[in-house]
Amino acid sequence: MKNHWLKEGLLDWLYPPRCPVCGEIVPAGDDRVCSACRNGFRRVVPPVCCRCGRMTEQEEEFCEDCRKKRFSYVQGFPVWVYNQAMRRSIADFKYRGRKEYAVYYGQEFAKAYGRRLKELSVQALIPVPLYWKKCRKRGYNQAELFAEEIGRRLGIVVCRDYLLRVRDTVPQKDLNDRQRYANLKSAFAVDQQKRRYYAGIKNVVLVDDIYTTGSTVEMCTKVLLRAGIEKVYFASISIGSL
Ligand SMILES: [Zn+2]
Ligand SMILES: [Zn+2]
Repeated sequence: MKNHWLKEGLLDWLYPPRCPVCGEIVPAGDDRVCSACRNGFRRVVPPVCCRCGRMTEQEEEFCEDCRKKRFSYVQGFPVWVYNQAMRRSIADFKYRGRKEYAVYYGQEFAKAYGRRLKELSVQALIPVPLYWKKCRKRGYNQAELFAEEIGRRLGIVVCRDYLLRVRDTVPQKDLNDRQRYANLKSAFAVDQQKRRYYAGIKNVVLVDDIYTTGSTVEMCTKVLLRAGIEKVYFASISIGSL
């Protein structure tokens, strides 16, 4: 225990915690987010869409997007709105090695949705995979880091390499819905060995960094349902507005 404490102390000294909003080293006593940045991220608060979890204008069951499309997942659990501060934070987390942001993201996710995931008897967390070449280049999969932090806090197993990205895809952000669908079609598959190993698992949460149009989550959900999973939810750090 003491060794563990020493190790954490040493790690904090070598890699001082940085505020996930501004990227500066957090002064002692501040809780991961420095006090000046408290309002940098915008939390998702009700009223929200019953499907994707996105904030809605008034009390209504579904947002415009979820009224138009028929999704195969059950429900989504996003923590923050994808605003300017969030955009920068996630870019640093993904592309500039700020892996430690996962701790804060995971902590806040667990506070917001931990109880809900218990009520739903979720059995496993499945990170949205990266293509292996991309993962090797980046050194890590950001969705997996976020999933690990959630799993550690809520005691839910993270199934790594259960869902695989078998084909490389171009970045989704400049594509429309139809192009996204074509881009992602047949990009994902379930590893057959893992499927047998986790045969009892029926209730899962897909984990990703951003939810925008839902096409990635939808593709992954379809593949999981085909593999025998019964209910798929999703967790995301942030969700884009419409
Ligand atoms: Zn800050
Ligand atoms: Zn929605």
